[in-house]
Amino acid sequence: MSKFNEEYIITMKDIVREGDPILRQVTEDVSVPPTSEDLDTLKCMLQFLKNSQNPEIAAKYKLRSGVGLSANQIGINKKMFAAYFHDEKGNLHEYGLMNPKIISHSVSMIYITNGEGCLSVDRDVPGYVPRYERIKVKAIDMTGKEVSLKLSGFAAIVAQHEIDHLNGIMFYDHINKQNPFKLPENVEINSLF
Ligand SMILES: [Zn+2]
Repeated sequence: MSKFNEEYIITMKDIVREGDPILRQVTEDVSVPPTSEDLDTLKCMLQFLKNSQNPEIAAKYKLRSGVGLSANQIGINKKMFAAYFHDEKGNLHEYGLMNPKIISHSVSMIYITNGEGCLSVDRDVPGYVPRYERIKVKAIDMTGKEVSLKLSGFAAIVAQHEIDHLNGIMFYDHINKQNPFKLPENVEINSLF
């Protein structure tokens, strides 16, 4: 049994850091319908994100604030991630998704001017991370139903960052090696903020 049950509080000591091979692995599909163990783990991951954004709880447990967390970031080789954040329009997004797959995406791209960060990366990595502006994701949600989500802007960036994790890809893999602030050419790309 996994220790990540409903009462367990994930802290930074549970977060796998870069250099650990599990972050470079393509994770395994989750069995459908999801087991209660997998659902408990997802709930626990989602609660970590909420805790990390609550100033009192974050201070108490010394949590770095995060908007997304993939299962391999807590050492679990399974295709699932949690996300919790407000987008650029102020809308709240809360997801616990299994076997997520990007089934289509826009040609146009976006990036965050300040770059991206990651709970598994304890250093600042400057540079632009080009992402698709809009994506359509198919996944299994926490009720076990197949869902299709249309995400754009910040929500699309978060989902791409997490789905990358599940495929062994780190955000800085997308940064131009010669010039970290060089954007891809021949494609429409705008800064989000
Ligand atoms: Zn990350």
